[in-house]
Amino acid sequence: MAARDFTSELVGSFSEGSNGNPTVAMIEAAFRHHGLNWRYINCEVPPEKLADAVRGARALGWKGFNLSIPHKVEVIQYLDGLGESAAIMGAVNCAVNRNGKLIGENTDGKGFLKSLMEVVDPKGKRIVMFGAGGAARAIGVELALAGAKSLTIVNRSALRAEPLVKLLNEKTKTPTELVVWPQPYRVPEGTDIVVNATSIGLANGNQPLDVDLSTLRPGMVVADVIVDPPDTRFLRDAKAQGCTVIDGLGMLINQGVIGVKYWTRIDADPAAMRTELEAIFAS
Ligand code: NDP
Repeated sequence: MAARDFTSELVGSFSEGSNGNPTVAMIEAAFRHHGLNWRYINCEVPPEKLADAVRGARALGWKGFNLSIPHKVEVIQYLDGLGESAAIMGAVNCAVNRNGKLIGENTDGKGFLKSLMEVVDPKGKRIVMFGAGGAARAIGVELALAGAKSLTIVNRSALRAEPLVKLLNEKTKTPTELVVWPQPYRVPEGTDIVVNATSIGLANGNQPLDVDLSTLRPGMVVADVIVDPPDTRFLRDAKAQGCTVIDGLGMLINQGVIGVKYWTRIDADPAAMRTELEAIFAS
């Protein structure tokens, strides 16, 4: 008879404001669903404790961990290497223990891309993206690496958007332009994909984007990053215009799927994770 193994494999998350993070519930749902003796520990880590937290994870043999606000950039100095897109972005949200070395990856944009690919391949597509913060940076880099034909970044603040546009033009092959958000923004004809990567709609499902809705046309794919609530005003408006819509839950779930794959090498069932998240956001 095989010996019993009472030792769990460990992964987790380091962030400030960890009590608002639903990832633990989603990842543990996947572990349960697949009968894995793994645990995801959601840890509150202030900036001055980040170095110790990473050292602790190494000492305990953690298989990896997520990083959230405010650690995505600072953590890089404590890691042993970076994946391609994380190196371009200069931000890590997922560390992976590969043969004892902690390698920093970024699954924010990869999760978005996987969710988008279920509907349309961005290769050769003209894309408009609202926002220039952390989520937009991760998504912009992945869309460019996936071969987007062009990218238009629409943002309120030029100051915030300029470094992102510069980075995409210098480090990827996708020509990227900045549009300082006019009121309202008119989506150019010929646009294939429109992404809301701002925080508009977060905790307020009725907040509109300042977009001329008549310029959203059937055939366009419109995606939103907002998860709470996932059914945003922007997506409802786009659907009414005949667009195909993708909610932010897909991005979050696919980040989880990619993280679980990195850590355990198992292809997690996204349905089990979506069920868990939908129950959380419905309550
Ligand atoms: P940041 O704070 O880094 O960036 C926020 C962006 O939203 C900026 O571009 C900002 O523009 C813009 N913005 C905010 N309010 C307005 C407004 N009223 N009008 C116009 N623009 C506005 O946030 P993140 O990039 O980290 O996150 C953005 C959203 O993405 C959050 O809601 C987050 O929850 C979500 N997210 C979802 C994920 C998922 O898995 N689905 C993963 C990661 C994030 P400006 O520069 O002009 O201020």
